[in-house]
Amino acid sequence: MKDLSRMTDEHLLDLRLSELPLCIGGTQLEHRIDQLYEELDQHGLRFKPHIWLSQEWFTPDDVPGFAIPFYLAHPRLAKLERKQMLEVEGGTTRDCLRIMRHEAGHAVDNAFRLHAKHRYRDLFGSFTSRYPEWYKPDPQSRDYVLHLPAWYAQAHPAEDFAETFAVWTRPGSRWRSRYRGWPALRKLEFVDKVMSELKGKPRLNKSRDRVDDLSDIQITLREHYRKRREHYRLQWPPIFDRDLLRIFSSESRHSSRPSAAGFLLRHRRALCHEVAEGTGVHQYAIDQMVSQMVTRCRELNLRVNLARDHTRQKLLISLTVQTMNGVHTGYHRIPL
Ligand SMILES: [Zn+2]
Repeated sequence: MKDLSRMTDEHLLDLRLSELPLCIGGTQLEHRIDQLYEELDQHGLRFKPHIWLSQEWFTPDDVPGFAIPFYLAHPRLAKLERKQMLEVEGGTTRDCLRIMRHEAGHAVDNAFRLHAKHRYRDLFGSFTSRYPEWYKPDPQSRDYVLHLPAWYAQAHPAEDFAETFAVWTRPGSRWRSRYRGWPALRKLEFVDKVMSELKGKPRLNKSRDRVDDLSDIQITLREHYRKRREHYRLQWPPIFDRDLLRIFSSESRHSSRPSAAGFLLRHRRALCHEVAEGTGVHQYAIDQMVSQMVTRCRELNLRVNLARDHTRQKLLISLTVQTMNGVHTGYHRIPL
């Protein structure tokens, strides 16, 4: 048996996903799954989605279970994930449960074929409508619950249902008061009614399919990460010059001041983290933007001429605005 914790990054990247000696039993992940099952049980649901390891978070069509990314099953792989992608999605118990409640929503939907109900279609829209390449969320909308970042409920009717289920199922949710006066409350009430009808009922869909189970994936970790980084590559062309010239100086009298590129590089990590938290966009995508900013600062030979905190604050705003422009014009996360 390979000891992953003793392997170097290079060695790990050469492994095929199917070769990873992983299982959920006995890991921290197992406790988190038990917690999810306990939450469903508290609501009287007999149904427990089956769960397996794969490349990403996802619930396949017509399967009453979901996949969890392999890196959550071993701390060494979580560390590699952070190094490759700058963040570990679902890495904390809180985040992991948040995503699992969403996936459980898809699984329940599939288990009882809820999307075939008229009322579902009236409230959420057509489950079979095409998934968009990207979506333009309206941050002000009260028609949708707020759960995963980036107003994800607005991405597709199936996501809207999954998000609504996730809000409903979370222990101590207080959704009735939280969403009072919001049109989204009708969706929550629908979920509440349907789930009370399903109490103790066996699922209709008996499938135990494990689509893209880790043991079937022959690509190497190196290839896996190359593809993921490609996926998060910027899909909008940020134009920074105007912002950069407001934040930094191109005047020759400031030429002995510290370089703007150096300033950005020193604050890169913290800025990416803060913007990712505020917008729900993957840190890798934001980091790419910073990297382009650094290049532009060098080309324009920009210098720092304001106080450190003031400069940092301006950068944070500029990056957030650029990121939100990206969300509106063509960013897409992997659909969960
Ligand atoms: Zn989803």
